[in-house]
Amino acid sequence: MTDERAVIVGAGLAGAWTAARLREQGFEGRVTLLGAEPHPPYDRPPLSKEVLLGTGDAADTALDIDFAALGVDLLPGRAATGLRPAARLLDTDAGPLPYDHLVLATGAEPVTLPGTAGQPNVSVLRTLDDARRLKRVLDARGSVVAVGAGWIGAETATAARAAGCRVTVVEAAHQPLPGALPAAFAEPMRQWYAEAGAELRTGHAVTAVRDGEVELADGTVIGADAVLVGIGSRPATGWLAGSGIGLAPDGSVRADERLRTDAPGVYAVGDCASYPSARYGRRLLVHHWDNALTGPATVAAGILGRAEVHDPVPYFWSEQFGRRVQFAGRHAEGDLPVRRGDPAAGDAAWSVCWLRADGTPTALLTVDKPRDLMQGRRLLQRAVPLDPALVADPSVPLKATAR
Ligand SMILES: Cc1cc2nc3c(=O)[nH]c(=O)nc-3n(C[C@H](O)[C@H](O)[C@H](O)COP(=O)(O)OP(=O)(O)OC[C@H]3O[C@@H](n4cnc5c(N)ncnc54)[C@H](O)[C@@H]3O)c2cc1C
Repeated sequence: MTDERAVIVGAGLAGAWTAARLREQGFEGRVTLLGAEPHPPYDRPPLSKEVLLGTGDAADTALDIDFAALGVDLLPGRAATGLRPAARLLDTDAGPLPYDHLVLATGAEPVTLPGTAGQPNVSVLRTLDDARRLKRVLDARGSVVAVGAGWIGAETATAARAAGCRVTVVEAAHQPLPGALPAAFAEPMRQWYAEAGAELRTGHAVTAVRDGEVELADGTVIGADAVLVGIGSRPATGWLAGSGIGLAPDGSVRADERLRTDAPGVYAVGDCASYPSARYGRRLLVHHWDNALTGPATVAAGILGRAEVHDPVPYFWSEQFGRRVQFAGRHAEGDLPVRRGDPAAGDAAWSVCWLRADGTPTALLTVDKPRDLMQGRRLLQRAVPLDPALVADPSVPLKATAR
């Protein structure tokens, strides 16, 4: 052991894996992992799936990392309150912690609707405690209004319908999954809500939430025993105010391609950090599980003095209305979307592959097409030009479409 000290703030996926990767890669100093939540590190994707559906609970979400065996000091229920980079001190609610290496992994927090703080019937879904509370609401089979038809809104609507609740999903944009998918490819999902018996109202902004009801901009009032606000999340970096750590306009910690911040010895990883992507030619803030899982290896390498770059093909999945939706990559304006299968013609499984003018794939959306996703992810990684005519034929495996 050395007396070097690595402190990791935020005991979520990225923080927990940073601790594990540090040991795996041979860090012999002290590792301290502190997190504001009272629970040991757990996975969030099951919260809006297994936990709400009642097919799993805390035991299924816990991360499979033995911190004691790794010699990691895990401090749950301890929050960082400030940072003094010049003194290499992290301030916490239980006093300051000195560090040689510091990893910021405080994740993201849900955006809330103004004026709803403290209302007992209004919830967000970020933590295990949020999910357990919401599960009790679903078990009561009341009426549920989900604000936002994004991933969280869709997955919550799925579970609420399975529980037998009356469900309305209200979305200000004119399509489900705005911000994630172009309208043409999100449109088939509208039908999924209808088939599940959930009412989807797009193009409606919520103007007020009162006890037992939600009011829309056009004056419509919808009864709601419970309201779930799923309108996005922002990096949990408010506690860094005044520390001098550089933040981007979206609130993320500005990391470089090796996930280093502008303060010596300080790294940032996961939902709280943005990084410059050479692959996409811009700074990315990625709020996906895969990004929080892969970033820690880069951070651990950096702490151990090796220069690794974090620039993966972003990947995300969702389970909604009995379907598995997966998305990899990023497409840009002008990329050509090529359909493989057509939901309008009754195909239950389909995908869309975006190609640049030279045939290089940039993104892939799949619905119940895991093989397309698996093969497509490799093609995205390798950036091999594809033949659009072959891509458009769903009977041709994606891996056989390279030019
Ligand atoms: C309900 C839900 C479902 C999801 N489903 C999917 C999915 O299907 N597919 C997918 O790709 N992604 C999904 N995601 C996103 C994915 O879970 C996140 O991208 C991932 O959890 C990010 O990990 P993280 O460690 O960066 O942040 P987090 O998981 O948010 O962990 C950060 C931790 O830091 C703690 N913290 C914050 N501030 C402080 C502080 N000042 N001091 C100490 N600790 C602090 C927080 O309490 C938290 O425990 C889902 C997210 C949610 C909420």
